[in-house]
Amino acid sequence: MPDGTESESRKLLVRLRDTLAEGGAGQERLDKITHLIASSMLTEVCSIYLFRDDDTLELCATEGLKAESVHQTRLRLGEGLVGRVAKTTQIVNTADAPSERGFRYMPETGEEAYSSFLGVPIQRLGETLGVLVVQSKEARQFSSDEVYALEVVAMVLAEMAELGAFVGDGAALKALHQQPVLFRGTVGQEGTAEGHIWLHEPRVVVTNPVAEDPQAETERLRDAVNELRYSVDQMLSVAEGGDADHVQVLEAYKMFANSKGWLRRMEEDISRGLSAEAAVEKEQSIARSRMARSTDAYLRERLNDLDDLSNRLLRILTGQGSDTGAEMPDDPILVARNIGPAELLDYGRRLKGVILEEGSVGSHAAIVARALAIPLVVHARNITTEALNGNHVLLDGDQGVVHLRPDENVVKAFRDQMAMQAQAQERYASIRDLPAETLCGRRISLTMNAGLMADLPSLPTSGAEGVGLFRTELQFLVRNKMPKRAELSALYGRVLDAADGQPVVFRTLDIGSDKVLPYMKPNDEPNPALGWRAIRVGLDKPGVLRMQLQALIRAANGRPLSVMFPFIAQMDEFTVARQEIDKAMAREERLGHVLPSELKIGTMLETPSLAFAPQAFFEQVDFVSIGGNDLKQFFFAADRENERVRRRYDTLNVSFLSFLEGIVNRCRTTGTPLSFCGEDAGRPIEALCLAAIGLQSLSMRPASIGPVKHLLRRTNLGELYSVISEARESGVQSVRPAVMEYLAKAAIPSAS
Ligand code: PEP
Ligand code: MG
Repeated sequence: MPDGTESESRKLLVRLRDTLAEGGAGQERLDKITHLIASSMLTEVCSIYLFRDDDTLELCATEGLKAESVHQTRLRLGEGLVGRVAKTTQIVNTADAPSERGFRYMPETGEEAYSSFLGVPIQRLGETLGVLVVQSKEARQFSSDEVYALEVVAMVLAEMAELGAFVGDGAALKALHQQPVLFRGTVGQEGTAEGHIWLHEPRVVVTNPVAEDPQAETERLRDAVNELRYSVDQMLSVAEGGDADHVQVLEAYKMFANSKGWLRRMEEDISRGLSAEAAVEKEQSIARSRMARSTDAYLRERLNDLDDLSNRLLRILTGQGSDTGAEMPDDPILVARNIGPAELLDYGRRLKGVILEEGSVGSHAAIVARALAIPLVVHARNITTEALNGNHVLLDGDQGVVHLRPDENVVKAFRDQMAMQAQAQERYASIRDLPAETLCGRRISLTMNAGLMADLPSLPTSGAEGVGLFRTELQFLVRNKMPKRAELSALYGRVLDAADGQPVVFRTLDIGSDKVLPYMKPNDEPNPALGWRAIRVGLDKPGVLRMQLQALIRAANGRPLSVMFPFIAQMDEFTVARQEIDKAMAREERLGHVLPSELKIGTMLETPSLAFAPQAFFEQVDFVSIGGNDLKQFFFAADRENERVRRRYDTLNVSFLSFLEGIVNRCRTTGTPLSFCGEDAGRPIEALCLAAIGLQSLSMRPASIGPVKHLLRRTNLGELYSVISEARESGVQSVRPAVMEYLAKAAIPSAS
């Protein structure tokens, strides 16, 4: 690029900054800017189109087009060349606009006189705010330097818009971060919450997009990049030898941090007038729009890494750490792109809700959110860009919907819904101490699932009769190193103390598949759900299992103890696992520890194979608990983590229900106590049907106990079983419609 152009672009930016600094109302500023750009770029026309709403662009200021068309001319997204730039976020540069695909002539503007057209999107970090256009009579293609200059100006405009420079009388600019926005994500944990946004990593605000002294600016950038490289090296040396994924991400950071191309592009941006911060943001913006367009998962991941790295660099440059001095609101709803389980646990129950831009239903963070009973929505696209600290937000974890900055009507409807839920909660509280006894006189035992100390306060408040499933892996997942036996034993002891004599079923470590310990070398398996997980790991490498069994025996300290093995697929796995307990008991006795007063050893039934195990298995085992989440995924061959298929098959599908009934019958023959502890146990209709086919014990999230008990107490399971049987015989695929019809006829409100 010739030196002359370089300084021209810088001069333009400096003049732009000075113009903006002069003050004045929003419209006045926009008018001055169009004048300035047209005169600097020697074009007859310069126009600024801004989004009026998500689909409409409005001509907000112009130099050269007819003044009366300002605020009159509007285009839909995708309409005409301006709409095309906004929609595709791609530049249009043409010497002959009228012959361009999609050209639309707007007579009120008088633009027929202009042949050349250059339009660039006005965008900031992947958010498009409008389009900046220059036009001239002379039919010519704009040079790459001119394109570049206009792009940089557009970026500075976006930056100033972020700082509120154009809001004010007349300017129709879509007020940034002020309008209501609706996000449709995926349910991570049910529940509703109203509160105010707390950003896990607040946005870095760039207040100085333009700089006059490129030399000094380049030096600032280089110093910051050096600091960044150093910190990445530090992180790598700490992480090396640990989790391979983490190391891989840091390797990618390192590669980007040392990338000559990245630094060169930012230095070029500075030489054209941008400040170091704006240069970083410009490259970040480009990466984000590539990310939005890319369908290649690997490339998206790497661009994501670059995005993270850019944020780090911006924090170094601006001195804005993650602590911006902002105060956490009283009713915080956490927004993050992703968050680790330990970090989430640090926030703890202070949070009213969590919204993640990425995340997944089975992620560790989701597990923790569930344990803390905090509503969680994942996959809320762009939430981290849109939300600002302190924004009002409504989180509907039941539907996976988030209303950011909601208007009054939405707030009212939402509060009505919350009030109804609160009423229902009161109803549940009133039956908390009553048994889950059905109209036909059957008593169903309702216990809760837990995994953290944080769960235990729910034991008395929910009305649960004990803990039917304590997922011990959570203690391993939320730390960054393997917990010690003494720590585990103290924790299990506290769990038993909190249970105060009510039974607690401890499931031994269930890792592998989606549950990967951050400090254990992950195995690269083609299909982790079917791979080396749970008891398979425990039996092949028994060190951790032994340590855990010892910790459990010591924690019981003379009290009764129930231990359950996960993922037993055939009888001998149970036999060998049981021998481990026998050995642990003998060892503890030798060491002089008090043994549990009673020991029950059971298994989860999570693979269809175990339903057909020899009778001897059912005779040996003290109890069986159906892990419906895994069992269902293997029964239907539908991955429980895969959004596309996880809801595809109904639990009340006759095949599955009959299969479950077969398990009930087998356990009945041998008198083996049977329970069900998958998520379906907490869904009232599913719970009813499970009870109807003979399950006596259901273990679920504490929040589900009230609704399930309420419904059970109003139902005659004998009648319901006849309805199920008839439906099955009639050849339907799922018994759900028949069950719903029965409940409606019997005037049993199924939703409560
Ligand atoms: C299950 O599979 O149903 C279960 C309870 O175990 P988890 O969800 O922890 O795999
Ligand atoms: Mg399971």
